[in-house]
Amino acid sequence: MDLIIRHARLRGREGTWDFGITGDRITVVAEQLTDEAITEVDAAGNLVMPTYVNGHIHLDKCFLQEKMRPNKDYTFGECLELTWEHKAGRAIEEGILNGTTVFRAFADVDSIGQLRGLEGLLALREHWHNVVHIEVVAFPQEGIIRDPGTAELMEEAMRLGADIAGGLPWFEMLDEDARAHIDFCFDLAKRYDKDIHMLVDDTDNPLSRSLEYLAVKTMREGYQGRVSASHCGALAAYNEVHAHKVMDLLKQANVSISSNPHISLVVQGRYDQEPIRRGITRVKQLWQHGVNVFSSQDDVADPFYPFGRNDQQEVVAYICHTAHMAAPSEIEAAFDFVTYNAARALRLTGYGLEPGCKADLNVLTAPTTREVLRLQQPPRWVIGKGKVLAQNQLQREFMGR
Ligand SMILES: [Zn+2]
Repeated sequence: MDLIIRHARLRGREGTWDFGITGDRITVVAEQLTDEAITEVDAAGNLVMPTYVNGHIHLDKCFLQEKMRPNKDYTFGECLELTWEHKAGRAIEEGILNGTTVFRAFADVDSIGQLRGLEGLLALREHWHNVVHIEVVAFPQEGIIRDPGTAELMEEAMRLGADIAGGLPWFEMLDEDARAHIDFCFDLAKRYDKDIHMLVDDTDNPLSRSLEYLAVKTMREGYQGRVSASHCGALAAYNEVHAHKVMDLLKQANVSISSNPHISLVVQGRYDQEPIRRGITRVKQLWQHGVNVFSSQDDVADPFYPFGRNDQQEVVAYICHTAHMAAPSEIEAAFDFVTYNAARALRLTGYGLEPGCKADLNVLTAPTTREVLRLQQPPRWVIGKGKVLAQNQLQREFMGR
């Protein structure tokens, strides 16, 4: 055995457990392992969970805040203007320190930067492939119909090896263009046999209605379970009758929804006076409806969001606050948004805590999820592919009295 984690507490299970790891796999989970291993880690009765999955991050934009002029009004247009260049490696390191070993990275593909972002992220995927799982989304940040030349660039992006066909249908100028945009993405994804992940209705405008078309298209193309949509803020602005129709369609089509609440808090509701909306989609209703909801970091110190530590625990905390998910079962569900649900959206195999699963594990610093959120401390140890990738030590000393 290469690695043993001792005295781990598991969600929904009594007692403490030991994990035996050989190579990059969990080989045994038992109440007390008598074996010894080259490396041993004492979880000391704290939680062990699979590592976090970040299903939506703009690695080509991370830390642009440090280089760019400051935002003046945070409109979507201004955010776009400020966006180019790369600073991704540092963001991955920070993500690993905070317990994430899976990143779905969006690369801008447009007439401005062309394929530079994508080529950068493909190289990054290669550079990190022994350590973490990175998949690259070809993402038409300027639209497809409204940005001539992008359709050809998207095709080239898939040919170069992009893992996912991205989309931004709501950003097109007309509803019919948004539908043509979605049609284009399906055609592209099907020809390369790739999954789809779009940013959909990222607005609080109730007239933005790409999501229902995406759900219906998913069913008509037989793509159930292979499509994700991020943001979907407009769904929260629809009346209840229409919102329920759309949520039913999403469930039928098995479309996964990523809500990235910290971004929505900053970017949405900009035309509201008081009360100002939170800008998130119907997170709690979707979850209760049986739709696969997940949550992602999205932006780190870039024109869309000035903060962010590439920290999925922080994202869970935002979900709990913005979506009113603070009861015990809701906190557990919110943790699923960055673990099991995200893994399902990305169709990861071997994800979990059972023998045979990949040894990608976080040893946390508290025995319960609520306490993990209250403390907001990074994992004590982060294990990826059976190796210790990071350790965090918190040193605090009270000097008063
Ligand atoms: Zn995004």
